[in-house]
Amino acid sequence: MRLSDLGEFELIDLITHHQPDAHGRLLKGIGDDCAVIDGGGNSATLITVDTMVEGVHFSLETSTPEGLGAKLLAVNLSDIAAMGGTPTEVFLAISASPDSDATIIERMVGGLQTSGARFGVQLAGGDTTATDGPLVLSLTAVGACPVDEVVYRSGAVPGDAVYVTGTPGDSAAGLAVSKGVDGVTPAYREMLLRRHLRPEPRVEAGRDLSTRKVASSMIDVSDGLGGDLRHICRASGVDMVIDPDRLPISEALGAFCDTSGQNPIDMVLGGGEDYELAFTTCKHNFAVEASFECRLSYIGTVTEGVGEVRIGTVGSSQRYEKKGFDHYSR
Ligand SMILES: [Mg+2]
Repeated sequence: MRLSDLGEFELIDLITHHQPDAHGRLLKGIGDDCAVIDGGGNSATLITVDTMVEGVHFSLETSTPEGLGAKLLAVNLSDIAAMGGTPTEVFLAISASPDSDATIIERMVGGLQTSGARFGVQLAGGDTTATDGPLVLSLTAVGACPVDEVVYRSGAVPGDAVYVTGTPGDSAAGLAVSKGVDGVTPAYREMLLRRHLRPEPRVEAGRDLSTRKVASSMIDVSDGLGGDLRHICRASGVDMVIDPDRLPISEALGAFCDTSGQNPIDMVLGGGEDYELAFTTCKHNFAVEASFECRLSYIGTVTEGVGEVRIGTVGSSQRYEKKGFDHYSR
């Protein structure tokens, strides 16, 4: 069977099918934003890997090499943030054509290191290989977190409130703008492009939510808010009811939707590459909301269920059908 017939998540099922449950030092294996490894005492190591492929995830016509390096880092740090961890080291694997411009690689790594310095993250190793294909950048990030502060996808319980940081959907609009969809003001256009090309991982927010024991479950919004929330629902064995009237829509996204005819709710739920954090908490209206370092929006409620995201209000909702981004669907 071809991968395009199977689908990305079914492929992951195929890989994990024969995998025994995590045991020994491995506290959490496949199935969350990071693997969690017991470091002794109350310490845990978090590890995640992400790959970016030229022509699939980036184009050097729309992003600078420095920006590309910063985004590669952000994508990985976002997964560490989603577990409540502090990122520490990264490892970079580069597959590049012998004809590639070395300056581009140097500038990309420079961008990664400059951004890494802001987060106290060091480039600690990696690998380089030649390829005839497109430029492939794979980054492995390592982080640290006290064992009792790690936030998993599986901790949501009925009655919890659902929150999201920032304004998801902007990145998908930024991608459309980068591809030539026009009609928004230069200021909005710049804001949407920045949200797509230079996402800011919510490392501080993730740490805050885990150290204050606010979040019962958490995930980063990489494949679309609706699909990512479904991962929490499945891992936790619950449903969620998301109120479309509560979804945060940035002014820039609103303006983009006005001119492009797109539905802002669809953009917020179905856009990708936001790198915001979605989480559940039993501490609804918690004081942290007002003092938080970024915008926090209460968007829904966890209910008893079987792993579905529902859109509407409790008692009157429809199942959210759209799947998260699938790399193998055509
Ligand atoms: Mg993730």
